[in-house]
Amino acid sequence: MIDFTLTETDQAVLDHARAGALLCRKHARYYDENEHEMAPEVLPEAEAFFANTPRPPAAGPEDTSPPVMMALHTMVQHWGDYTIRLKRSGGGLGNAALAAAGTPEQQAKWGGLVLSMAITEPGCGSDPSRVSTSAVLDEETDEWVINGEKIFVTTGIRADAAVIWATLDKSAGRAGIKSFLVEKGTPGFDVPHKEKKLGIRADDTAAYVFSDCRIPRANLLGGDESISKKTSGGFRGVMKTFNMTRPMTAAMGLGLAEAALDFTREQLAEADVEIDYMAGLSSQTAAAEKFIRLEAIFDASKLTTLQACWLAGEGKPNNMESSVCKAHAGGAVRAITQGCIEILGSMGISRDHLLEKWTRDCRITDIYEGTGEIQRLIIARGLFDYTRADLK
Ligand SMILES: Cc1cc2nc3c(=O)[nH]c(=O)nc-3n(C[C@H](O)[C@H](O)[C@H](O)COP(=O)(O)OP(=O)(O)OC[C@H]3O[C@@H](n4cnc5c(N)ncnc54)[C@H](O)[C@@H]3O)c2cc1C
Repeated sequence: MIDFTLTETDQAVLDHARAGALLCRKHARYYDENEHEMAPEVLPEAEAFFANTPRPPAAGPEDTSPPVMMALHTMVQHWGDYTIRLKRSGGGLGNAALAAAGTPEQQAKWGGLVLSMAITEPGCGSDPSRVSTSAVLDEETDEWVINGEKIFVTTGIRADAAVIWATLDKSAGRAGIKSFLVEKGTPGFDVPHKEKKLGIRADDTAAYVFSDCRIPRANLLGGDESISKKTSGGFRGVMKTFNMTRPMTAAMGLGLAEAALDFTREQLAEADVEIDYMAGLSSQTAAAEKFIRLEAIFDASKLTTLQACWLAGEGKPNNMESSVCKAHAGGAVRAITQGCIEILGSMGISRDHLLEKWTRDCRITDIYEGTGEIQRLIIARGLFDYTRADLK
């Protein structure tokens, strides 16, 4: 049976994270206005705080499912503000891809690096089979020669290396796409610009250019063996990581939406607007009724996200559920933050408060890691047993 009851230790971990998240919130406006400033050292207070995070004991049968706990932790941290991302140690999406598609030797060699993940190109976003960055093996030097351009790479500047998707043979479609690890500083690997964004400005997002960039043959994830396999080192490994990272993307957005709800609830209380949960919607003021509806959307979205995580923790397939929670959260966080602005009026868009920023920050929930439309395609294929060719 699904059970989201938290143990005392898990609750203590979340309470600790909430306090740390508030420290990051203090810097939220600064990093919103100074996009790409890469100075996590200005958050020493938060760094020191998180270094002392209590560690939960290894999960036993009675403990909270680790993926559920991870989602709750992510939600709590982003409730503080997206600025929490500045204090991130560890890696990005590229690390998840290395764990899924790399050989044990590759994982041991690069697992300690911060790895970005570069799939998107100017001509390829939702449909990654259109990747045109090329990888050609130079048999004489035993090196791959990479040429192409990547855009919107999260952690693109801070990363020590990138996991990139490149094609060995464009005519082979998905089967020709493999992933490679390219270290920063490799000649021919440039970071020509940083992307300027509507929101999540505390995240560094960059473009990459590869011009005759030579990397060792051994940098093909999965090793030479993956060349003969149809999907290994390419789609299958990375798609598997999305089943866990999509719920985390949902959790990030939901953390911001929860912050918006909490702020609005406080403002309603200050204005003496009572919310009576026992009275039924028709007996509420218009503002309270609207607020309760937003809370209901939040709860539904949170539960679908935890369900996808719980399935992962049980070792059960969660491909469809991870798309359901991502698609739902993408719309939910938009509706919630916009709804909060509608309830609060001018206060909602004032830069004296963070609500307008959270509204901009959470817009990305429905874009990266597959847009809402793409998630709905995956859900429809799963529900009706359609193939990719039937429904595209
Ligand atoms: C801040 C940020 C960070 C990012 N980080 C990364 C990263 O780290 N690594 C990385 O590789 N990429 C990253 N991306 C890229 C992101 O994954 C893509 O933007 C996303 O996949 C959508 O691709 P696109 O922008 O090319 O839009 P397009 O694919 O051009 O789509 C445009 C519109 O058409 C819709 N659409 C497309 N195909 C269909 C279809 N078949 N049916 C119905 N509707 C469809 C889409 O939903 C969208 O609304 C990031 C993007 C942003 C904004």
